[in-house]
Amino acid sequence: MSDGILTAVDKYLDRPREACGVIGIWGKARNVQVVHLCYLGLYALQHRGQEGAGIVTYDGTKMRLCKGAGLVPEVFDEDSLADLEGFSGIGHVRLAVRGERHVVNTQPFSVRSSYGSLAAAHNGSLLNGKELREQLLSQGTVLQTDSDSEIILNLIARSGAGSLPEAIARTLEIMEGSYALVILGEDMLLAARDPWGNRPLTLGEVEEGYIVASESCAIANLGGEIIREVEPGELLILDGLGWRTYRHKSAARKALCSFEHVYFARPDSCIGGKNAYLVRKAIGRELAKEAAVNADVVIGAPDSGVAPALGFAEAAGLPFEIGVIKNRYVGRTFLRPTQADRRTAVRIKLNPVVDVLKGKRVAVVDDSIVRGTTSGKLITLLRDAGAREVHMYVASPPYRFPCFYGNEPSSQSELVASGRTVGELKDLIGADSLHYISIEGLVRAIGIPRDQLCLACFSGEYPITPANYRREDDGEEHL
Ligand code: SF4
Repeated sequence: MSDGILTAVDKYLDRPREACGVIGIWGKARNVQVVHLCYLGLYALQHRGQEGAGIVTYDGTKMRLCKGAGLVPEVFDEDSLADLEGFSGIGHVRLAVRGERHVVNTQPFSVRSSYGSLAAAHNGSLLNGKELREQLLSQGTVLQTDSDSEIILNLIARSGAGSLPEAIARTLEIMEGSYALVILGEDMLLAARDPWGNRPLTLGEVEEGYIVASESCAIANLGGEIIREVEPGELLILDGLGWRTYRHKSAARKALCSFEHVYFARPDSCIGGKNAYLVRKAIGRELAKEAAVNADVVIGAPDSGVAPALGFAEAAGLPFEIGVIKNRYVGRTFLRPTQADRRTAVRIKLNPVVDVLKGKRVAVVDDSIVRGTTSGKLITLLRDAGAREVHMYVASPPYRFPCFYGNEPSSQSELVASGRTVGELKDLIGADSLHYISIEGLVRAIGIPRDQLCLACFSGEYPITPANYRREDDGEEHL
């Protein structure tokens, strides 16, 4: 993107970035058309990826694919949706992580194989993707993208198994890492979740068919019923007989990404059986119990700080107010004429409610501090609006370690909390005080045992560690 296009507004949203959402639908009859369900489901999952989207459908004779860069409504129009005929389909919204930004990596991927036409899309990251890629290349496979989905399709196609489910089971056996995977074949749709349950995936039913989606909100938004979350290490087959379950692999423990509850998941989704909005409120309550609160009013950083701020205000016995208004209509094409207008650009996106803030000691609750750029700007904004004191409360522990499981940032150098004390961070962002929830407090609020959660970006203890995984940023072998 050129400098002439305003990227500051997007960069202002300094958050860990979720990499992708998936959906798959198998129609209950051959005359069902699923494309609009896929489209609307991707719309509901848009928060999981804004850089690209794609849908593949199968109509009984051939697979049809449409994908491209941008938001879901930018990628598809009435004509392209009309072309995507079929009683089954899979879809994907993409957020490119490091090294995968080229549009050629947009999912799903579609190939022809000895198992017939196949398409795949995934959310997550293969820790042994580099080794599997090198292995395929050494066997003469031509790979055109950096995407793990292309590797997965090639592994399936080359498996030599007697049936598609068997080929997928063999492929899952050699895949290491985190994933929620959907694979569309001619006679069935298969969905798999990694053995640790790191990436979320939910099974549901709509009138027209069975559906799997990264989050329950996509199923609920289609008027569907949630059947249940796909189990860690489970392989589901959706076909003309309904749905069947198989176990493809088991792990010694579960490791659901705790950031799903902190930030990634939409508030109306349930992950690990817990509603994300209610968990965020509970995090705010825990935070207020743990930290000293000296404030007149509580506000949430828009929008992801609002739910924990509500819980925080409730537990602290303080009024909750909307202290900053976010302009929802500032889009990706908003133009910033010069660098000097950067500050104005931020104000166009976020504007303080002066009468709420003036002369007050303000407790501002945010979900996380990742690169630190957001918090400093927000605090300046509040002080400029007349806040007497600004105390920052963070609804996740210090984000000190990179994520290797498909979420950004995946490099320690990007993390402002890495190598800094809380006091140094307070000074850096310009707050009067800075308080983080503890790991124990976060676990209590989520309500899932610690040994079933991934907390690696806070603790540095990585639950998914295949022996041959090499962290690319430091070049060391980690067992
Ligand atoms: S390290 Fe674990 S908890 Fe942190 S973002 Fe990655 S998967 Fe989620």
